[in-house]
Amino acid sequence: MSDKFDVIVIGAGPGGYVAAIRAAQLGLKTACIEKYQGKEGKTALGGTCLNVGCIPSKALLDSSYKFHEAHESFNVHGISTGEVSVDVPTMIGRKDQIVKNLTGGVAALLKANGVTVFEGHGKLLAGKQVEVTGLDGNTQTLAAENVILASGSKPVDIPPAPVDQKTIVDSTGALDFTSVPGKLGVIGAGVIGLELGSVWARLGAEVTVIEAMDKFLPAADEQISKEAFKVLSKQGLKILLGARLTGSKVEGDQVTVSYTTAEGEQQQTFDKLIVAVGRRPVTTDLLAADAGVDMDERGFIFVDDYCATSVPGVYAIGDVVRGAMLAHKASEEGVMVAERIAGHKAQMNYDLIPSVIYTHPEIAWVGKSEQALKAEGVEINVGTFPFAASGRAMAANDTAGLVKVIADAKTDRVLGVHVMGPSAAELVQQGAIGMEFGTSAEDLGMMVFSHPTMSEALHEAALAVNGHAIHIA
Ligand code: FAD
Repeated sequence: MSDKFDVIVIGAGPGGYVAAIRAAQLGLKTACIEKYQGKEGKTALGGTCLNVGCIPSKALLDSSYKFHEAHESFNVHGISTGEVSVDVPTMIGRKDQIVKNLTGGVAALLKANGVTVFEGHGKLLAGKQVEVTGLDGNTQTLAAENVILASGSKPVDIPPAPVDQKTIVDSTGALDFTSVPGKLGVIGAGVIGLELGSVWARLGAEVTVIEAMDKFLPAADEQISKEAFKVLSKQGLKILLGARLTGSKVEGDQVTVSYTTAEGEQQQTFDKLIVAVGRRPVTTDLLAADAGVDMDERGFIFVDDYCATSVPGVYAIGDVVRGAMLAHKASEEGVMVAERIAGHKAQMNYDLIPSVIYTHPEIAWVGKSEQALKAEGVEINVGTFPFAASGRAMAANDTAGLVKVIADAKTDRVLGVHVMGPSAAELVQQGAIGMEFGTSAEDLGMMVFSHPTMSEALHEAALAVNGHAIHIA
């Protein structure tokens, strides 16, 4: 036995590294184990989010949106640019540099907080011991009072479209195309499929999204998802709903996919195919047979509301446990667990985890949708405000979408904020802050919002809940 820690964290994604930093801040002797080897062949901290998820996808979304604006809408402002072109390797290089800076930043933060980092594979043994297999294959066994499992998730593979990371790629491969595909197929109209489809569509790819479900974005408020379907389709994303993939065949540099729709068997040929049908928990070789940690029926580590597993002193957080697969959910679970280990009475409000889809316009929400509240029999009042009536949105030439505020009809308490439009993610966060403090629609309506801002659309939608909107008839 080489060393004993108060806390050992397995995995340095946004769940694991945040848990490790918080534990160290609270005076606990903490270690964090990470095995991921980044593009430069070195251990890269930050998990899926920093290396191949949130950050690189947003870097490409922002680059591609700038290209799209220069190409499509600068002329509205009277700006002419001549021919606009894109150099994909430079765009990818910029993205890689951001990833490098941020993952290096996580290493510096862990060091500054006194967290010991082990590079290699971590495995929980019985009795809260952890075996670390280093990059050289050597093993050592560590002991801990508490272990936090934060091993994350990886893309789901589907037999009809096996990923080769050349022609058929997953979300990771889709962040590294070397040129813009002429025709791009995307399997799955979820968050990742829509974001990555948008990146390459803005750069000129003809994009078809093949989605098995009949409903578009079923987790979103129906009014918002209908509007989003219209706006994204208008932008050129061809979204096929009720289309079930049955097979794919790679020939040369292209792939022909087969799928069935209500009209029968269909085929399309693409230059690249992105498979984005969801993610599954990573638990391979994470737990020794006698570790005693239970899993649920879907392969997630089973935890209670405080992320405690079936073994006292062993916790699990983030994508490897139930709930939304989101970086901010993973991080807050990490903070909660570290604080509980240190004896604090921390808890998390799982009802107020914001969701964002970073298309343009963004789609974001917090709390419950109109259809969910109606299904529960809750009486509600709804206020909406379109960005088409916002002076700030007009000035920015960014008027698609709306803000929707839903409040309890009896108490006026805000139960949901749903936005499609410019800065939707930031507006929804304002709603979340209010909701965390139990705001009523009237409270939001009585607050002073800066003019002219996109936020005024939230103000007006809150006023509209009780019929007081000023700038819409
Ligand atoms: P991960 O980030 O997956 O980290 C787990 C880490 O554990 C990995 O580094 C892995 O190598 C390591 N590990 C696993 N097993 C072991 C082991 N046995 N030993 C040592 N190390 C191990 N979420 C958002 O909130 N916003 C977004 O905009 C967003 N965009 C996304 C875009 C894409 C393309 C993708 C794929 C995901 C996106 N996500 C986004 C989801 C987000 O990345 C995840 O929810 C988040 O990373 C989960 O954090 P985690 O710490 O649970 O796991």
